[in-house]
Amino acid sequence: MHTATQCIQSGYYPKNGEPRIAPLIQSTTYKYDTAEEVAKLFDLEADGHMYSRISNPTCAVLEDKISVMEKGIGAIATSSGQSATLLSLLTLGGAGTHILTLSNLYGGTFNLFNTTLTRLGFEFTFVDPDLSPAEMQQHIKPNTKAIFAETIGNPGLGVLDFEKISTLAHKNNIPLIVDNTFATPHLCRPFEHGADIVIHSTTKYIDGHASCVGGLLVDSGKFNWANGNFPEFTTPDKSYHGLVYTEVFKEKAYIIKARVTLLRDIGCIMSPFNAYLTNTGAETLAVRMDRHSSNALKVAKFLYSHPKVDWVAYPALSTDKSYELAQKYLPDGASGIVSFGLKGGACTGKQFINSVELASLVVHVGDIRTHLLHPASMTHRQLSPEEQLSAGVSPEMVRLSVGIEHIDDIIADLTQALDKI
Ligand SMILES: *Cc1c(COP(=O)(O)O)cnc(C)c1O
Repeated sequence: MHTATQCIQSGYYPKNGEPRIAPLIQSTTYKYDTAEEVAKLFDLEADGHMYSRISNPTCAVLEDKISVMEKGIGAIATSSGQSATLLSLLTLGGAGTHILTLSNLYGGTFNLFNTTLTRLGFEFTFVDPDLSPAEMQQHIKPNTKAIFAETIGNPGLGVLDFEKISTLAHKNNIPLIVDNTFATPHLCRPFEHGADIVIHSTTKYIDGHASCVGGLLVDSGKFNWANGNFPEFTTPDKSYHGLVYTEVFKEKAYIIKARVTLLRDIGCIMSPFNAYLTNTGAETLAVRMDRHSSNALKVAKFLYSHPKVDWVAYPALSTDKSYELAQKYLPDGASGIVSFGLKGGACTGKQFINSVELASLVVHVGDIRTHLLHPASMTHRQLSPEEQLSAGVSPEMVRLSVGIEHIDDIIADLTQALDKI
């Protein structure tokens, strides 16, 4: 089925007489008849919910829905996008793990990598996405365990060259982890283009209504964790009586290990209530993404032809540096985020932000309402000026998250704000 159908029909399959809508199971725990059954759950010999820090039936509906849409073999709903990113890396190894990451990252991901994970002994090399494969290869070390990238970089909006980066990863026997937040599985399915693990901030388009912070970790099931590079997958885990993940769980080794060790130990699971609301939001993901994409393209064209606008970045705009990659990887639409710079720089940018009326100034992207912010003084504020530039943030950049209101009303608002400058 198409993602437009899957987002409505997947994840919950009621039997005769059961509720049509996936119920909210707001319970920390689950009742069993015998001690033997519970022991089997603890030993990972039986499937079933035991405690809602590790799994919950309402979270499972959302996990299954997005996993189906991404063409994965399993997913974990997490408390935030940040915790999904954290789990994606902690599952690979501990201190001494090196990650090669493209530099055009969401500011929160940059901070997680550059501050907290670095403090815990992880190492990161941030590389320019335009480097050639040979130049990138020089940054791969014996302890490099993954490449990390975003489908559409935030907020520079460069589209990931999946073929180039996944080929490099697989040549080095390491997985490609992709943050697919901006594209969502309706517009791009990274597993079809060589990615091995996907993470989402469901806080953005998947929820779509700005009501829940949440994340998802999705496994393609295609990466060979027994290739010698990942001893934690192939040697006995003492905390489960010497279980070896690749032997027992085969292609599901990664996603099961993440759940049974990291959710167990860290506890960053999504709450059932957030999973319930996020699942309801996700049911309209496809129609929303189509509308976000068509509205954003019209806004990008409008801005591009406006005399007060200096530059516009939107991957589906034929003048954009990522246009060809967008045609290849985002043929159904390039999502709802448009970045641009006004003539007159940061000062006129702020004036513009203060002049819009329909669009609101919020620290968010990817919900149904049109809004905007100034990355250099907001989301990417903690980065130094050099780090901002390598993340694709220039001082004058305004990031517009185009909503699904009527396009004429959005353009009218932008027009009146530009007139005031
Ligand atoms: C917001 C965002 C995150 C972090 O997600 P939270 O849900 O805010 O923790 C990660 N990646 C991208 C691209 C984002 O936009």
